[in-house]
Amino acid sequence: MEKLVTGTDHVHTAATVRRRQRQFVPPSGLHLHRATRADTVLLDQLFYATVDECPDPHCRPLLLDRVAADAEATRKLADWACYIASEMYCGLPAELVDEDEAATTVFHPSPFFCRLAAEYHNPEPALDAVYATYDTAQRRQVADNAVALVDGFQVWWTDFLYQ
Ligand SMILES: [Zn+2]
Repeated sequence: MEKLVTGTDHVHTAATVRRRQRQFVPPSGLHLHRATRADTVLLDQLFYATVDECPDPHCRPLLLDRVAADAEATRKLADWACYIASEMYCGLPAELVDEDEAATTVFHPSPFFCRLAAEYHNPEPALDAVYATYDTAQRRQVADNAVALVDGFQVWWTDFLYQ
């Protein structure tokens, strides 16, 4: 009988993570105005698995599946990445909010991430309108992009979008 894969046999935490040139607050450490019931331990683990470049082929995909299944968790992760980027650039640059500009960067985020970044950059009264339309597969891309962005900043700082 095939073994059901429910998780990996290791965890990624702040205590075990490989160090980068710069450190940013993990998702669990950022408290935004928006109240959330998101599992921030899970979000941190996804972030640290990315920083660690985990060689386990099941690790990040499983974590991404779990984050994407939780709409609040994905939203928190996107807000966290946008907050850090906004602090670094004093606002979000066109390379994050404009889908055509973003496509020219090595980061190359999904259009779903760009639309959330655009909404973060220029909030309208219907703040959650874009996000509410996303399905699990789209949230998975957003979560993947969010952690990759902050990891890229840890290595490249502001140059990450301009290589
Ligand atoms: Zn791992």
